[in-house]
Amino acid sequence: MRCDDCDEPAAIDQPYAAAHLCARHFSRSVEERVRREMHRQAPRFPGGVVAVALSGGKDSSVALQLTHRHFSRRPNVHLIALTIDEGIPGYRPATVEAARALTGRLGVEHRLVSARERLGTTTDETARARPEVVPCSFCGVWRRRLLNDAAREVGADLLVLGFNLDDLAQTVLMNLARGDVDRIPRMAPHRQRQPGLVPRIAPLATVPEREVFLYAHLEGLPFDHGVCPHADRASRNVFREVVWRLEEELPGTRHALLKTQRRIAELLSAPALVGAPNRCVDCGEAAAGERCRPCEYLKSMGRPSPAMVGP
Ligand code: SF4
Ligand SMILES: [Zn+2]
Ligand SMILES: [Zn+2]
Repeated sequence: MRCDDCDEPAAIDQPYAAAHLCARHFSRSVEERVRREMHRQAPRFPGGVVAVALSGGKDSSVALQLTHRHFSRRPNVHLIALTIDEGIPGYRPATVEAARALTGRLGVEHRLVSARERLGTTTDETARARPEVVPCSFCGVWRRRLLNDAAREVGADLLVLGFNLDDLAQTVLMNLARGDVDRIPRMAPHRQRQPGLVPRIAPLATVPEREVFLYAHLEGLPFDHGVCPHADRASRNVFREVVWRLEEELPGTRHALLKTQRRIAELLSAPALVGAPNRCVDCGEAAAGERCRPCEYLKSMGRPSPAMVGP
């Protein structure tokens, strides 16, 4: 099979677009899709501090590389990479090393944020103490909080996340399947500034996971292939399989789910529908109920709620 744009052999097929591309045209197409999303999700960005959530895996490494390239001619943009260490020995240390290698190569400032220091506990410790709870439930909630706190501490105007098309399609389906439609407008990118939250964007939103992997590989990015030892318990796995099956049978389903997210976000973007958040009684951050979810988890584990408030 040949590339649609030149005589080189195709490096990838894209059934959802009925396209075949060689390595060079494929890399260009990824860069173009990410550039378009950057402009779409953060239009007329005036400059400032841009934080990039960098786990050291393929997605966030590609997000950092392309964000760095996107802003490379903007002296008024300062990039900072943030890595959350949830405390998962045997998994996180290798990804932290990969994150250090990439930030070193790009010359980007890098900060490591430790759950042990900030929360007084770690994902592994809590998983051992509460084996009946799926670790991703508290780990994900705590990581989002630590990221937002760290982004505020560095004065970030924007927080870049590495979610790819598969991740977002799975999240849309998960929220729909659970009846959590009101969560869909809160997914990145943020159309409206939410109090206390650094606006998040997801510039890899239209790039499928396998294409992110291929791009990271072709670019020779240092990234870690490791899988978290708790990942097999995540309820997301079911949705990953469902999305794979749907995409195989009906190419373009992931893009349709992304469109669903955007349409619902538009329909529900009126402030009265999104609603003003309460304040958490423990930490003072925005909360849907009496307590924010990070504090709810800490309380249910019998842990005190530390002051998780940035400047
Ligand atoms: S897979 Fe689950 S437990 Fe592991 S780092 Fe991700 S959210 Fe945390
Ligand atoms: Zn080509
Ligand atoms: Zn709280």
